[in-house]
Amino acid sequence: MKFYIEEFPLLVLTLICVAAILIVAILLIVRYRRSQRLRSAGSYVEALKDLIRGDEESAFRHLKRVVKEDTANTDAYLKLGDIFRRRGEVVRALQIHRQLTVRNDLNTRTRMELLKSLALDYMESNKNEQAIAKLKELISLDKKDLWGHQQLLRQFERQKDWSQALSAQETIFKITGQKDDSLLALYEVQIGHKWADQKEFHKARLKYKDALRRDRLCVPAYLDLGDAFQQEGRLDEALESWKELLQKVPEKAYLAFERLERVLYEKGQFGEVAKIYRDLLERDPDNLRALLALATLYDKKGNLDEAIRTCQRALQVDATSHVARQLLVKFYQQRGDQAKVMENLETLINSAQVTPNRFLCRNCGHESQEPLWRCPHCDQWRTYIP
Ligand SMILES: [Zn+2]
Repeated sequence: MKFYIEEFPLLVLTLICVAAILIVAILLIVRYRRSQRLRSAGSYVEALKDLIRGDEESAFRHLKRVVKEDTANTDAYLKLGDIFRRRGEVVRALQIHRQLTVRNDLNTRTRMELLKSLALDYMESNKNEQAIAKLKELISLDKKDLWGHQQLLRQFERQKDWSQALSAQETIFKITGQKDDSLLALYEVQIGHKWADQKEFHKARLKYKDALRRDRLCVPAYLDLGDAFQQEGRLDEALESWKELLQKVPEKAYLAFERLERVLYEKGQFGEVAKIYRDLLERDPDNLRALLALATLYDKKGNLDEAIRTCQRALQVDATSHVARQLLVKFYQQRGDQAKVMENLETLINSAQVTPNRFLCRNCGHESQEPLWRCPHCDQWRTYIP
């Protein structure tokens, strides 16, 4: 007992000391943690500023510090992964992003950001199926996510899955309130091509007709519909499709000329070709290409007078048409009219100036007088050729 009494103050003192040390230790840890959090928060803010400035190197360094000090900062991990992807280290990007998917404390917004990053990672590594899966997951969280639908459309187009692309494009139009039936018609045409490639011409034709239901002026639909009939030996129906193009879109009629001539010759209906051109010219008198085709046809038949007359008509429509002038030279030559040959050759030589620049989009054929680096028609970059 005595022992205890004597020892008591020492024990209390020891306990107090231990408690004091503990308290100081806890305080130090709390302070350290707080300062670490503050430091990491500071680094995070710096990283965000770097990203806004476009300084990815510095952002990368800051973000690495953030995730070391504060493993709860999901957004820092997300952005770090994105930088890895942009640096071409897509495996690291995927590693970081995949690890985040198992966290169950993510809110919907963060989860959506994560799905976007993952989709981009998969796209970068050409894993289209996985990219599509992530994009679909993203869209399931927000059905109106435009970015998700646009990326999905790109993936479907890459895979040449035109049916899915078509519905993705329709959804995008619904979200943005736009409408472009002639574009949707082109998707139908693509679906048709796939059937035609498999020699399923009936199914192909149904698609071309769907295209025409969307857009009565869909040029490839008329051409391909005729081709699909022709493939099965249904020449009359093929001719009907192409003649309809002449009716509906006379300015693009020339695209069917060669087809019409081929099939009509095959059928032995030589006279029909000239009649088609004349009918077209009756409705569309200034159709230069029809005039040139008709002139060539008259020449083939040995009717030089009509050939020359038609050429002159063509030159009335477009006095600068080199093709018309060349044909005229050729016809006068055949007739032996040297004076006319010389006269027209002279005109041809004098008009041979540097033609004004024409720039064509390789992607959509859009034409521009001046060089463009982004097509205003199809939104593609660097598609213009002089
Ligand atoms: Zn274009």
